[in-house]
Order: sequence, then structure tokens, then C-alpha cells
Amino acid sequence: MTATEHRATGTHALLADGTTVRIRPVVPEDSEQVGRLYQEMSAENLRSRFFAASRWSGRQETERMCAPGRPGYQALAAEVGGRIIGVADFERTGRAPDAGADGGLVEAELALAVADDWHHRGVGTLLVEHLVDRARQDGVAAFRADALSDNHAVLRVFGDLGLPVSRRFEGAEVRCTVRLDVRDDEPYLTAVERRASAADIASLRPLVRPGCVAVVGAGRRSSSVGRVVLRNMRRGGFTGLLYAVNPHARFLEHVPTYPSVGTLPHVPDLVVVAVPAATVPGVAEDCGRAGVRALVVVSAGLDAEQGAALLDACRTHGMRLVGPNCLGLANTEGEVRLDATFAARGPTTGTAGVAVQSGGVGIALLGGLSRLGIGVSSFVSLGDKYDVSGNDLLQWWEADGVTGLALLHLESFGNPRAFSRTARRVARRIPVLTVDAGRSAAGRRAAASHTAAAATPTMTRRALFTQAGVIATRSIGELLDTAALLHTQPLPTGSRVAVLSNAGGAGVLAADALVEAGLTVPELPADLLASLRRVLPPGASATNPIDVTPAVTETALTECLDRLAAHDAVDAVLVSLVPTALGAATGEDPERSLTDPSGVDLPCPVVAVRPDQVERVTVLRATSGRDVPAYAEPQAAAQALAHAAARARWLSRPGGVLPELSGIDEPGARTVVDAYLDAHPDGGWLEPRECAELLARYGVPQVPWAWATTEDEAVAAAARVAEPDRPVVLKAHWPGLVHKSAQGAVALDLAGEEQVRDAYRRFTERFGARMTGVLVQAMARRGTELFAGIVQDDVFGPLVVFGLGGTATELLADHAARLAPLTDQDVHDLITAPRSAPLLLGGQDREPADLAGLQDVLSRVSRLATDLPQLVEADLNPLVARPDGVLAVDARLRLVPRRAFDPYLRRLR
Ligand code: ADP
Ligand code: MG
Repeated sequence: MTATEHRATGTHALLADGTTVRIRPVVPEDSEQVGRLYQEMSAENLRSRFFAASRWSGRQETERMCAPGRPGYQALAAEVGGRIIGVADFERTGRAPDAGADGGLVEAELALAVADDWHHRGVGTLLVEHLVDRARQDGVAAFRADALSDNHAVLRVFGDLGLPVSRRFEGAEVRCTVRLDVRDDEPYLTAVERRASAADIASLRPLVRPGCVAVVGAGRRSSSVGRVVLRNMRRGGFTGLLYAVNPHARFLEHVPTYPSVGTLPHVPDLVVVAVPAATVPGVAEDCGRAGVRALVVVSAGLDAEQGAALLDACRTHGMRLVGPNCLGLANTEGEVRLDATFAARGPTTGTAGVAVQSGGVGIALLGGLSRLGIGVSSFVSLGDKYDVSGNDLLQWWEADGVTGLALLHLESFGNPRAFSRTARRVARRIPVLTVDAGRSAAGRRAAASHTAAAATPTMTRRALFTQAGVIATRSIGELLDTAALLHTQPLPTGSRVAVLSNAGGAGVLAADALVEAGLTVPELPADLLASLRRVLPPGASATNPIDVTPAVTETALTECLDRLAAHDAVDAVLVSLVPTALGAATGEDPERSLTDPSGVDLPCPVVAVRPDQVERVTVLRATSGRDVPAYAEPQAAAQALAHAAARARWLSRPGGVLPELSGIDEPGARTVVDAYLDAHPDGGWLEPRECAELLARYGVPQVPWAWATTEDEAVAAAARVAEPDRPVVLKAHWPGLVHKSAQGAVALDLAGEEQVRDAYRRFTERFGARMTGVLVQAMARRGTELFAGIVQDDVFGPLVVFGLGGTATELLADHAARLAPLTDQDVHDLITAPRSAPLLLGGQDREPADLAGLQDVLSRVSRLATDLPQLVEADLNPLVARPDGVLAVDARLRLVPRRAFDPYLRRLR
């Protein structure tokens, strides 16, 4: 089976201990294997599955599972190294007894069996998770499972899933029925996320904390990449066992060398592969067979086939993979000391977790972090990111106990939906910083040719990173500026900055830079001014910015700083100092007031600007208390402070809750999607009727409409959709029509039968046979024309876009976007973000639009975007907002065939 076939028929996922398994549907050809699974089960295991130690039941069950597919039945197998180690299935049983008036509640009977030697490793949980996903798509609302009441293992699997569970004991209390409600959302998603994270971390352990490492491809040339890695491993003082693989040598760099991976005296946890591209797949296969758990492939230039073979070997043998085409990996933890890179200088021990795509950027960052005294905890160059991604590392750093700061320089981060969720969670604990790479069209082109990562316009991307809690900087310089501040100083509690300088002009420049960065330099309250005047030299101006004059003494400056920092009108202090002859003459060094203060940590962040400094940013070491970041440019200091203030704001903001929405028919919507994709396997734009139906399933309010294919039908339809004495609208349709008004295909404000007939005739004259019909709509009353839409972003996943609509949409580009799913807080932010927001909020002689109605529509659009990954584009334009409601009058939706990249589903890429 080729790699692509493999992937087509199943997905790989991680068990609790980090083992890779394949989850796939059971097929008739599996009967022998499934039969064996039951044959080899212990009597006890059989009894818990069938309530009797019955081999006969196993045979029956095998027949049932391996029968050709039938509606309402699904069976999945978990496979490791070609062996089926567990199976689970569900069979629809019909409506639940407590089905509501809508009658939509469908239940299914769930069953589960895992091989004796694979118990307690999360096989059952993983299988049930995948069944839950399928059941949801199938419109099943609940699973029912029978279990013996002393079968604690299986009861625990059900109980810990994160789904609402109820148990009912039957008969003599030996059997019980478990009912799992598969519709409930957030708690389940959190539970899946927790399991996914634990499994992910377990699978990364052999990679980041290996006990034994081998380097394959360390050649005889001492400049070969493999040799450099080997030298770095030794120089770094790796604490575990180290081997080299080379058939022509017994020692390389004093490291014992063996002819092949299979002949090594210990099985390595991690193998660094530095062989020519053509031999990479073979080496990977050897490693897999030998039981290696992780690979770092530094080799570049693999073609598509070699790449697929490499990934296939990793999946089949359950190895995590960094690269190919990367600089390597390092972990500075004292008990590991791993430097599996070919960088010239080793990483400095510290607290920044670093993941980069390009090795060059990595070297620059390692250098910068070392200079600033931040150092790194672990460093990974991800290269072409076949497997391990930014998402994986965020989870590692969240839990490794050393990392205090995450830095990512990547064009994309892994599964986009997972990124948005993971980043939001991890950023609560540690700052997550990135360089917003690929912003310009040219940068995007480079990025796309590099990794085929797409990008969204800059402004929108900023907002999206902010929403995810990620600090997005514009350059590596800005990233380091910000890291220096976050590493040394506390977060400001607001945006009010006091500026102190010993040269008036510098203070003014700093104040300008702060305001430009979005911070404020407020006037200071009278009590604070009075208190400052008491310590400052005569001639000092105690207004913000504060000019302390070149004559200021170190003691006075220290006093002044203390008073500013302690006052609750100040959230941060920027101190700009130039060395003066005056200071030099008296032996005064005002800078010491920053680094040798009274010994107590100031209650707010302090940054220094030193216009004469050569380095863009440095850290001034404190003799006691906190180090202080110092910048050559006030702009750099201001930007770093602005990022810190934005993080503080994000942390203090309530996350919001996902709004409850009634009247959502997800299975119904999926039916519409599936039917369309069956008929159009390559996807495309939905017909107006299909658009309307899909939106209706999600309760999006639409103007009343009907479809007509003759003049008489149009007249009848007009009578049906219009309110009494209100006009109607006719819109011609043909496949592929995009901008209807530009084509003259919209006739507005038609009053009475004659005008409808006229409009219809004009359409037929104009468009002839190409027209497949007309959409007849009620004419909506006047209101504000808005726009709401969906796009699927390669980095962030589904986005909801909102702004001013109608024909002005493209002209004004007054849009905002947020990550779906939108919380109530996000919806509020989205509505108030566009410049045109005041139009909705009402004013002197304007009634506000129906904001509750608008929030509801946006929440529904968000649900559509989250539930239906095939919906890659949606435009509701215009959405007419009035004080008495919100209505969609034009909708365009595009579907593409793709499987859910569902965060509910644990799977490797
Ligand atoms: P398109 O965007 O393809 O040009 P629309 O259906 O959006 O076509 O129609 C163009 C414009 O006509 C809308 O922006 C809106 O101003 C107006 N319009 C369309 N349908 C209606 C309707 N049912 N009620 C009121 N105005 C409408
Ligand atoms: Mg339109």
C-alpha cells in the first residue's frame, strides 16, 4: 500500500503514551484479523465484552463487523504495525425515548473491544472519540452501551470522555447501561484537548529528552553536516549515550561508530539523519524497524516520493519527525544537554522556547537571546515540517517546567484550528511571540513557494494573532526587543507611561514614540508633581515628559523613579538617559539609579532608552532586583511596551462564552453539503436555492424568497413572498454568475404584476437561454447594508469577516475579522471594530440597529464556519440591519470537498 492510499483509508493518532496508531474503518478483508483479536482475548476480557466468556460471541461479532457496509452502522479499527489491537462500532437504533417534539434525537448502540496486552493505554478512548465524530456527522445524539457493573475499566473510559453520562443499573445490578450524550460541546472539547496534549507531550519526549542518540551520515570529511552535528553533541555535553553510524569507521569524533542502526548496542530514542536525500527513506525504515522513537532529518532536497516514503516510515513505526531540511534541535536542560544542530555556536541555557522554520533565522535568534541573557530552553528548527509543528512545541513548552517565553518564527503553525485553540491556552501561561512573516505580497509569494502557506492581509492578521493571545511583531529585532522586556520586567497594568529624561529633546521624542505606539503620556496628578519637585534639581520640569536636567543626581533620580512607579496614575516608566560631561565630572552615573535601586522591585515596568547605545537592545544587569532592558531607539522601547500592555489587556479580559443558539440543524446542513459535493466532486458555488436552504438550517434570517422558471411562476411567486402592498425583487440566475447587479441581473422595487412581468421579459430578452431561473424576493425595507462572511485561513482556520456592505464593500474595505468560533465577547468586538460601527450604534436622530439580532446572525455564521469545514467561502452581502431586525438579502456560498480538520478529532497531520 502506498503512502497516499494509507492516508486515504485512515488517520494516525497518538495514544496516551505517545504511541502512534492508525484508526480506520473495518472492512470485510479484516475478518481474519478481527476474528483473531477475539480468539486471543482472555476469558475475563471476553466476559466484559459479551457478558459471557464466549468464543462463539466473538465469531458472531466478527461477522457482524466485517459484513459489507450498511447504513447506520460504523466500525473502526485501531492498528499498530499492521496488527489490529482494538475495534469499536456503533449501530443506530432509532429515536431516543426522550426525543423532543422535533423528533430528531437518534441513538446508537456502542461496543468496544481492546486486545489484552493493549489495555490502559487509551486505545478505547481514542476509538470512541473517532466514533463520536462520525456519529455527530451522522446525526446521532447519544450512544448507549451495556457494561457489566464491575467492569471498572470500560466504565472509566466512558466516564472520563468528557461527555455527559448517565448510568442505569439493571436487574441484579450486574449490568448497567451507559448513555453518552454526544452533542454536548465545550467540556468534551476541553477533555479531548487535554488528552491530545498529554499524548503529544509523551510522543515528543524521546525527541526532546532522549537518553540515547545516534547520528547517521557522519562522513569521513570533517566538514560534513553529520560530523558537525556529532561535534556539537559532544561539545554540548550530551548526558546520554551517543553513537555514530558509518560502515567505514569505528570511531568518529571519538564517538563509537557502528555500520548500521540495527547493529547499535542500544536502540536510540532519537536518530539524527544527515544522509543524501535518496537514502533518507531507507534509513528511516531501518530506524523504525530497530525501534527508534524520533528522527531529526537535516537532509534537504527530498522529492515528493522520497518525502512520502519518509513520512510513511515514521507513521508506520510511530516515530515523530523533525524536518526534513532543518538545522536541528537543541535542549539545554541540565539533565539532557542536547545540541543536535549544525549551528556554529551552541545555545545558551535559559528560558525561551524557540521554533523556527529557517535555520538562518534560528541562528540569529539564538545569538540574540544569548546576548540578552535570556537563553533558550529548547530550540527546534522545523524545516519542511512534515510532522512536528509549532503546535506540538507550544504544548511541550507549556508543560516542560522551564520555558517562560515561546518564540515562533514560522510561516504556518500546524493544523490551523488546533493552532487557534492551543495558542489561546498556552498564552494564558507564558507569552507567545511570533514574527508575522509573509505580510507583503512579495513576502507571501516567497512564503507560498517555501511551504505553500497562505496569508491574510496584515491588518486582519494582527487582530487574529491578538485574539489568539499571540504577540505578533514585524521583525526579528522587534521580537527580541519585546522578549527582553517580557523577560525582565512585569506587565504594565495599563497604558499610561511616565517619561523621564536628562535631556529635554530626548524626552519629547520618547513621548511621541509612545503615543504613536498606542500608549498614552498623560499629565500627572498634582500630588505626584509636588512630590517630584521636592527631589528634583531646580530648573527641572515636572510635567510629563519630565526633564530632570543634566544636573540630576543619582539619588534624586532614584527617588523620582520610586515615586513615579509607586503612584497609581502611572503604569510604566520610560527613562531616557544620555551620558553628560556634568555627570562624568562629579562621578555621578544616573544609569545606576536603574540597576542599583533601593533594593526593592518597582511595582511597574521600567525601560531605558540610551540614544548613544550601539546595540539595538541590551539588558542592563541589576546588582539587586530586576534587570532593565535598554534600547537605542525610543520607538523600539515604545513598541515593546505596547506589546506588553496589549498582553496584559488580553490576560485580564474575560474569554467570553460561546453563545447558545437554538434551531440549528447540523445533520440537515450536512445533508445539503454532501448532496452538493456528490453532484460536484470538485466543489463550487451553491445555487441560490441551495444557499438559502443551508442558511435556513442554521437559522440565518433571510428575506422571503421563491424560485421561478417562467413568467407566470414569477408572478405567482411575487404574490407569495411579498407583504401586502410591498414591492418585490427579481434576480436572474445562471451557473457561474458572480456580480448580479453588474450584469444587470437585479430588478429592484417591482410593484404589481405588470412590473414583475416586464422585468421577467427584460431578463429573458437579455440573457436568453443561459438564464436557468429567477429568484423572486420580497423587497427589504431600507436599513444599513452590512457584510458578513467566512473564509478559511491556512494559519488560523475559519474566520468570520464583518463590515460595511452593499456595493461599497470592496471600495471601502472597512472589514474586521475574528477567529471562529466567536465567543459573545468576540462578537461584540467584531461589531464595534469597523470604522463604520457608529452607523449601527445609533445617535442623535438615528435609532440603533437591532444589535441583538446582528449578534445572533454573526454567531450563527460562526457556527456554520466551525461545523462545516467544506464551506470555504461565504458572503452574506448585503445583510440589511434595521432597528426591527436583520435580514440577509444576498448570499453566496462555496464548498470544496474536504474532510473535517476537526479539533474534536485527535489525529496527526
Ligand atoms: P449582487 O451583490 O450580486 O450585485 P445583490 O443581490 O446583492 O446582488 O443585489 C444588489 C443590491 O441590490 C444589494 O446590495 C441591495 O442594495 C439591493 N437588493 C438586493 N436584493 C434586495 C432585496 N430583496 N431587498 C432590498 N434590496 C435588495
Ligand atoms: Mg450582493
